[in-house]
Amino acid sequence: MLNHNRGERGAAILCENGRPDLQEDTLELTHVFAGNPFDRGDAQRRDPVWLAAAERDASSRYLPLARLNVLVHDADGMRLGWLTRADVARLDIAVAPIFLGLLDGVAHFAIDVSELGDPVHELNLDDAWRFEDARAAAMRLAAEETGIVAQARAQVGWHRSHRHCSACGAPTVSSRGGHVRICGACKAEHFPRTDPVAIMLILDGDRCLLGQSQGRLASTGMYSALAGFIDQGESIEEAVRREIHEEAGVIVGAVRYHSSQPWPFPSSLMIGCHGRALTTKITIDPTEMADVRWFVRDAVRAALANENPELRVPGPIAIAHHLIKGWADGEVDV
Ligand SMILES: [Zn+2]
Repeated sequence: MLNHNRGERGAAILCENGRPDLQEDTLELTHVFAGNPFDRGDAQRRDPVWLAAAERDASSRYLPLARLNVLVHDADGMRLGWLTRADVARLDIAVAPIFLGLLDGVAHFAIDVSELGDPVHELNLDDAWRFEDARAAAMRLAAEETGIVAQARAQVGWHRSHRHCSACGAPTVSSRGGHVRICGACKAEHFPRTDPVAIMLILDGDRCLLGQSQGRLASTGMYSALAGFIDQGESIEEAVRREIHEEAGVIVGAVRYHSSQPWPFPSSLMIGCHGRALTTKITIDPTEMADVRWFVRDAVRAALANENPELRVPGPIAIAHHLIKGWADGEVDV
């Protein structure tokens, strides 16, 4: 169970950059890439007249992305690089802006400037401005701005890869400020997708199950909670049990939800759980996993403090860190 002692838990989760945050009114963890402050403006985006006026409004703000990297600038720390309508109106691009939402009555848009050769130069920006990888930016941006990055990156990426209808192949056109693409031929409506991923820390008393997937994790020597896409027609709990059995050969019983994190690479939702192991013998799927092992709590605590030369675990940007830390600190059990 989650420990809902506010003071204890609130103090326990404050990491060096203050994230993720505990929302005192809901007792929910707000991870990096969550906490988007926008009102997504469902009524406004259905009003083409309002939307057209908002696009032209001098107070509206535009966030450019180039090849899915987000514009930032460094002044007192890194901030998102919002531009005005006048800034983007000078650009020779033929893409529809994506309405992200409203904040304090001001409309905010994302705009894909990938077709520009050198967008920083063409936007006439100085050296303090640059396009930054979303993951790297999230390490330095204010918490609420990482939520905006998640929305903007996922939506721009979806529009880039859905220019044609999956039903008939004809070109699609963005509508409702980017909340839907409509096929010009068969009129099919296509909506932005989010792919659910189960990420789970499996527990066996004083041990937890960590693995290295083939590829990136294996090349870094890092161990993390296991994860996998949820299949169609499958519950979260069933996905947790199936993935762990496929990748590690361990049978899981009880599953408890912990928290979730948008992960805009390209458009996943990480659904974090803890699960109780019913068996402990590990049989690795070598096509997916380079290694899977049980680690005792003291070794994991030392790894979280960067004091274990034998074990490295993900940092606070990732939900895996908080699944691991919550258990290591004795705040969760199954
Ligand atoms: Zn079509």
